Amino acid sequence: MHIRPDTDDEKFSEFLEGWRVQELVRKYSDYIRFPIRMEVSKTRKKEGSPEGNPEYETYSEVETLNSMIPIWQRQKSKVKKEEYDKFYRDKFSDYAEPQRVIAVSAEGSVTYKALLFIPSQQPFNYYSKDFEAGLQLYSNGVLIMGAYFIWYFHYMPVGNDAVPELLPTPEQRKGTYERIRHFRASKPLFAMDFQNDAEYVGGCIAGGHRYLHINANGDVDPCVFIHYSDSNIREKSLLDALRSPMMMAYHRGQPFNKNMLRPCPMLENPQRLREMVANAGAHSTDLQSPESAEHLCAKCDRYAENWAPVAEKLWEETLAAKANKA
Ligand code: SF4
Repeated sequence: MHIRPDTDDEKFSEFLEGWRVQELVRKYSDYIRFPIRMEVSKTRKKEGSPEGNPEYETYSEVETLNSMIPIWQRQKSKVKKEEYDKFYRDKFSDYAEPQRVIAVSAEGSVTYKALLFIPSQQPFNYYSKDFEAGLQLYSNGVLIMGAYFIWYFHYMPVGNDAVPELLPTPEQRKGTYERIRHFRASKPLFAMDFQNDAEYVGGCIAGGHRYLHINANGDVDPCVFIHYSDSNIREKSLLDALRSPMMMAYHRGQPFNKNMLRPCPMLENPQRLREMVANAGAHSTDLQSPESAEHLCAKCDRYAENWAPVAEKLWEETLAAKANKA
């Protein structure tokens, strides 16, 4: 193995040390489903060496470094309290048992299992720069990272089978707005709110304003959620696609609403999307089940109507708060 020479700032050679390799495997790959074995050096008392003046020798042994058993994958009822406690103590180097263990198993469009431990006391390094806040995320048994970002998505009723009943109520959307802003002010996380952050990007970013979407068929859609197009990238250049009636309608229509809590031509201004699709003669580019713009927009009419007064009040308050700060 070749490794870069050490510098004043970085000691790369430590990655050739056994203890460092073991540490990395245990940190990032403790739960992958096959054994990671390594020949490790150990010390033991020499056979026959006197008790009062023992002699020691070094020997090598092949050891499995990873535990391979993600405790959160096991049924909660089959895991003993002592097992949770041991896992917590080993993982977080705490000598005390956790005050509470919460095991979550969620199945749906996102499926995950989670274990939350509430420590019984404040971590000893809580006020030091070494304290690592946030969650640990494992995918296929590999530690991906701690949590540094939250991206909160809004349900999109896109597709013939998508039902409008899953759209958030005005109270739920307002709650999300307030919660994410609370996280921003109080947590070391970069939190993004998919449908309530238009104020930071000047409204809808689709239609080539800041991005567009090209599907597997080559259809140039204004947005990953708006499957209506009059251009295919296999037939025209990107520039010509951007000059097409559908994209130009987006270009001229933005912002679709001066209220940055109502940015979308589908969700909050469905009449705008109906008009753009009809005027451009755009067709559905949904590859599985083409949905008419009328079918899609009709699902958003009531939602837009209900959200509008709440959004107006919230936006007024946002503007007033900004004015006060200035
Ligand atoms: S069309 Fe709607 S979902 Fe797409 S970028 Fe614009 S506001 Fe967002």
